[in-house]
Amino acid sequence: MAWDFETEPEFAEKLDWVDTFVREEVEPLDLVWPGLAFTPLDENRRKVVDPLKEEVRRHDLWATHLGSELGGQGYGQLKLALLNEILGRSSWAPIVFGCQAPDTGNAEIIAHYGTDEQKQRYLRPLLDGEVFSCYSMTEPHAGADPTMFTTRAVRDGDEWVIDGWKFFSSNARTASFLIVMAVTDPEVSAYQGMSMFLVPTDTPGIEIVRNVGLGSEPPGHGDHALIHYEDVRVPADALLGGEGQAFAIAQTRLGGGRIHHAMRTIGMAQRALDMMCERALSRETQGSLLADKQFVQGYIADSYAQLVQFRLFVLYTAWEIDKYNDYKRVRKDIATAKVVMPTVLHDIAWRAMQVHGALGVSNEMPFSGMLLAAGVMGLADGPTEVHKVTVARQVLRGYRPSEDLWPSRHIPKLRAAAREKLAEYLEHEVGNL
Ligand SMILES: Cc1cc2nc3c(=O)[nH]c(=O)nc-3n(C[C@H](O)[C@H](O)[C@H](O)COP(=O)(O)OP(=O)(O)OC[C@H]3O[C@@H](n4cnc5c(N)ncnc54)[C@H](O)[C@@H]3O)c2cc1C
Repeated sequence: MAWDFETEPEFAEKLDWVDTFVREEVEPLDLVWPGLAFTPLDENRRKVVDPLKEEVRRHDLWATHLGSELGGQGYGQLKLALLNEILGRSSWAPIVFGCQAPDTGNAEIIAHYGTDEQKQRYLRPLLDGEVFSCYSMTEPHAGADPTMFTTRAVRDGDEWVIDGWKFFSSNARTASFLIVMAVTDPEVSAYQGMSMFLVPTDTPGIEIVRNVGLGSEPPGHGDHALIHYEDVRVPADALLGGEGQAFAIAQTRLGGGRIHHAMRTIGMAQRALDMMCERALSRETQGSLLADKQFVQGYIADSYAQLVQFRLFVLYTAWEIDKYNDYKRVRKDIATAKVVMPTVLHDIAWRAMQVHGALGVSNEMPFSGMLLAAGVMGLADGPTEVHKVTVARQVLRGYRPSEDLWPSRHIPKLRAAAREKLAEYLEHEVGNL
């Protein structure tokens, strides 16, 4: 019997260590330095954060996202999923463990498609946790449909010249380089006519017009850049992978990352459920605890049911990736996890907020941030609707149209066939079968 829902003891021990370490050493950083996780370390923060990173390295848990074929430790997605479930509780934790998005996906594609020189120049410092990177793909007029992108890269002698606009390029302001997707051949389909470039952020012609914030972040404090690329010249060897390969590269980028994202979301949703339960057991109104009110019990039961279903599904998907080692084969389930993720977090955070009353909607509890995070999850890496299309298409591949006017499970048709099959036993029967 091969099904097994237990974590192997050695890795379970590692996870126990991570759980304590994140709670005691990393979560305090979220409270004293909120919003600074993606800012290069100053002297002061370095004194605290570098020893923590060192500790993570000593436990062989630094930058675990690369597979062994790409030079990583090769933990596999199931173990990484379990690890990310814990890291999801803290916004600093992925930084301390060297596995923060979008750097993980960026590292993955450079490891996969980069030349030795590109790996030395960009991947090494990224994996050392010394620099940040940015993935610059979405444009102001087009996000969900990359075939509409217009940013151009034109070959001029030994150089490529990039012109255009990009929007929501996260962390561009602290990144040391950008991965830019641009049209290199407008004559062919977008799937063959776009390429990726590795572009140092200080290249002349790159202007961060403004940094867009999320939710109620004050103007100018956001992390998501509107960028104007004007006559940005990079050498021919700035091309990542082959010319026209941008779509294939973009696909590679999102495989394991989505599962890690889903597990970090589970960590966050679990935290919301924990808070909901604690509050239900602590607060009394109209003669009894909230925990004794059926509506609140419904919130708790529905939340637990949603969370446990989603968690098992994500772990199953991670297990599938490890088993088949083929993201394409598991695409339907990866997309399904992406589709379900925002709803699970939204619903649980919303109920937890409600159970906390006024305190729940205040800035003294984290629920509004969780709700915003749920909204972000329905957009970043593509909107839910687009992933639903992928899921539906993949599901439909397993089906054929009915061969005649009636559905194949149409009862009169099935009954006629059954009667024919069993005719010899039915001939003496009377009645209205
Ligand atoms: C926090 C955050 C960080 C991000 N970071 C980055 C980054 O680092 N780099 C980067 O390049 N991009 C980034 N993005 C952008 C993200 O990839 C886009 O937001 C996403 O692809 C959707 O594009 P859009 O916002 O232009 O929405 P649009 O393409 O305008 O879509 C808007 C809405 O239209 C509907 N819709 C779209 N297509 C379909 C369809 N086929 N069927 C039905 N309905 C549809 C959906 O409701 C969708 O939400 C980030 C976004 C967020 C929110």
